[in-house]
Amino acid sequence: MGLFTGKKGLVLGIANDHSIAWAITKQLQAEGAEMAFTHLPDKDPERPRMERRLRKLVDDFATFILPCDVTNDEDMDAVFDKAKEQWGEIDFVLHSIAYAPINDLKGPVAEVSRDGFKTSMEISVYSLMSVANRAQHILKEGGNILTLTYLGGEKVIPGYNVMGICKAALESTVEYLAYELGAKGIRVNALSAGPLKTLSSSAVGEFDMMLKLYTDMSPLRRNITPEEVGKSGAFLLSDMASGVTGENLHVDSGYHIMG
Ligand code: NDP
Repeated sequence: MGLFTGKKGLVLGIANDHSIAWAITKQLQAEGAEMAFTHLPDKDPERPRMERRLRKLVDDFATFILPCDVTNDEDMDAVFDKAKEQWGEIDFVLHSIAYAPINDLKGPVAEVSRDGFKTSMEISVYSLMSVANRAQHILKEGGNILTLTYLGGEKVIPGYNVMGICKAALESTVEYLAYELGAKGIRVNALSAGPLKTLSSSAVGEFDMMLKLYTDMSPLRRNITPEEVGKSGAFLLSDMASGVTGENLHVDSGYHIMG
């Protein structure tokens, strides 16, 4: 019997085998979870690149796979309607999504465009509210939502720029949602991961400098591994964390304690 035997959940945000959502999914699968997945809709249906990338990883065990752009309410409704139709109730939702247009992400913050700011906040922050709004109706009592954040939401990390502002808002959103959904017995948490090379992080300036800083300065004097984030993510999503909500768990070799 695994930790997730009989548990069912939605995973949003696997782009490829470097994605943090994939690292967490591997742990959940090993512990017996039943899961459904989403990918960004493909612009050219003749060449379904996004869908293919996801299917390569999860086709063997996914309960269903649907396209979903989190800025599109119809896509979001379709995902949660399908989960309800398939399972009735679910145990967890993993939200592992962020985006900022590259020109705005590059900074400086003072020059971020109005549209770039709106897009960044909509995809990286509002999407969690939008997930919670739908998930609260099908999550079981004791169920939970987990999102991914980074230290740049708490402190200034050069190069993180507008995404740091989004993460600050995301972390506050986790707390408000934890309070609201807590009345229904639903937990909402964030996992603050140390830097990992992924598609999204390749767009962050100074990323290699961040990796080096963690090696030089963190208490563990090394960077974290995807497997470590996967295990801690699975912990927060599991009943082992039944008393944990509104939390921001740092899985970052302890770097966040350094002055
Ligand atoms: P990935 O690029 O692998 O994952 C980001 C995911 O967001 C992708 O699947 C991407 O889809 C999806 N996405 C972007 N825009 C939309 C949208 N409009 N609708 C639906 N999905 C969308 O990178 P990570 O795994 O690194 O990122 C996952 C989370 O972890 C993010 O919140 C990130 O900020 C956070 N994080 C990452 C760290 C790191 O160092 N990598 C450190 C700390 C936190 P697609 O690729 O198909 O566009």
